[in-house]
Amino acid sequence: MPTKILPEKSEITVIGGGIVGVTIAHELARRGEEVTVIEKRFIGSGSTFRCGTGIRQQFGDEANVRVMKRSVDLWKRYSEEYGFPFEQTGYLFLLYDDEEVEAFKRNIAIQNRFGVPTRLITPEEAKEIVPLLDISEVVAASWNPTDGKASPFHSTTAFALHAEEFGAKLVEYTEVKDFIIENGEIKGLKTSRGTIKTGIVINATNAWAKLVNAMAGIRTKIPIEPYKHQAVITQPVKKGSVKPMVISFRYGHAYLTQTSHGGIIGGVGHEEGPTYDLSPTYEFMREVSYYFTKIIPALRELLILRTWAGYYAKTPDSNPAIGKIEELSDYYIAAGFSGHGFMMAPAVAEMVADLITKGKTDLPVDFYDPYRFERGELRGKALQMG
Ligand SMILES: Cc1cc2nc3c(=O)[nH]c(=O)nc-3n(C[C@H](O)[C@H](O)[C@H](O)COP(=O)(O)OP(=O)(O)OC[C@H]3O[C@@H](n4cnc5c(N)ncnc54)[C@H](O)[C@@H]3O)c2cc1C
Repeated sequence: MPTKILPEKSEITVIGGGIVGVTIAHELARRGEEVTVIEKRFIGSGSTFRCGTGIRQQFGDEANVRVMKRSVDLWKRYSEEYGFPFEQTGYLFLLYDDEEVEAFKRNIAIQNRFGVPTRLITPEEAKEIVPLLDISEVVAASWNPTDGKASPFHSTTAFALHAEEFGAKLVEYTEVKDFIIENGEIKGLKTSRGTIKTGIVINATNAWAKLVNAMAGIRTKIPIEPYKHQAVITQPVKKGSVKPMVISFRYGHAYLTQTSHGGIIGGVGHEEGPTYDLSPTYEFMREVSYYFTKIIPALRELLILRTWAGYYAKTPDSNPAIGKIEELSDYYIAAGFSGHGFMMAPAVAEMVADLITKGKTDLPVDFYDPYRFERGELRGKALQMG
């Protein structure tokens, strides 16, 4: 179980105990490295336990498709090994005009090239998959049955417990306050519970990443800003009512699916920020009710049980910053995941662990180069909903 006792020293320290920090620690510990995670609240308490559960390979660029293909392999493997549910119930993008269809055909071609079996289907086929859909305006849909969803609670906890079994230390309710640096070399971290000696630090604080970079004295421009995104869950309905994640860009950039408890979970593209405020808003509730019922009219019969907010930690191209920051030895960042950090985490962990233990990785980590902002080399915007 995670502890509040800070070890005196750790070879590697991960700041931030969300799914990204936890899976990085899990992967490093699995490879025999000495690693500690320091989390200011409790494991998962940042964006991770507030996410919409979705895991997809349907992206519009090669790097994200390849990384997510690997991530899905790892989600499958660890869900089987550790016994948490990862359901490959698919992602269904509803398309409403020729322009959208053409854009998705291009995405599908990229996905197919890397072995992701997405295909364009008819509105009627989409309705066979989700009989409750209103397809009166839908002209086609992009369907990949190997996308899926997982509970952030079960999965993050399983990765955390197994990381500990491999020897990682997970320290909760401990905030990193400052770095101890001598001649450009990290010597330790000052925390709210004392000091830890450490040589390698990974900034996995996502929405707070710029604050930790500032603490470390990093001058490289890595723009990651916190934006408030909200979500809802409804009362439970009959199991199997909405198996895949259903997406509609036409109707509010909405995404929705059914959780294993039976409620419909999801959100829309109602974004506020940059802000650290997380209070739920009436405007979001109005939008989510309107857009959800345009996609599935029967949802108007349901009560929303709970609404909450979390952060999309956004970069200008909605792709994360992953890699080594050369200003300090040895400082790494894996942050700025926008609306897709939960799904990416297992592959991100592999990339970061590869960089630390081997100095290179087979996955296309250069795409997420933290220096691209400084060089003005933004990537195409990552496909994002919500
Ligand atoms: C409404 C909503 C829906 C979403 N839906 C999806 C989805 O369907 N699929 C998907 O893949 N992603 C989704 N996301 C995005 C996803 O939640 C995030 O990308 C992901 O959780 C990021 O994980 P993380 O570990 O990087 O960050 P976090 O979970 O935010 O973890 C960072 C941690 O760092 C800690 N921390 C910060 N500063 C310090 C410090 N100084 N010292 C110690 N600890 C510190 C914080 O307390 C926090 O726990 C959604 C997000 C929201 C808000």
